[in-house]
Amino acid sequence: MRVRADLDLCQAHRMCQGEAPAVFGFDEAADLVTVLQEHPAESERPQVAAAVRYCPAMALALEEENDE
Ligand code: SF4
Repeated sequence: MRVRADLDLCQAHRMCQGEAPAVFGFDEAADLVTVLQEHPAESERPQVAAAVRYCPAMALALEEENDE
């Protein structure tokens, strides 16, 4: 899977960090989400899916990759 964050949409709510702290970080200076792991382990899927679902700005997406 691949995680994408649309930085134009991110409103710095930081919900994603709460849901999946191993995958999402935060750039304090830019006031924007950072993706720590663009290709997280399969074990992170529930946390990443929750982050995508709960992001109030709908800035996050989880994509499948063909080679998985
Ligand atoms: S939850 Fe959404 S709006 Fe908030 S920091 Fe994460 S990506 Fe940005």
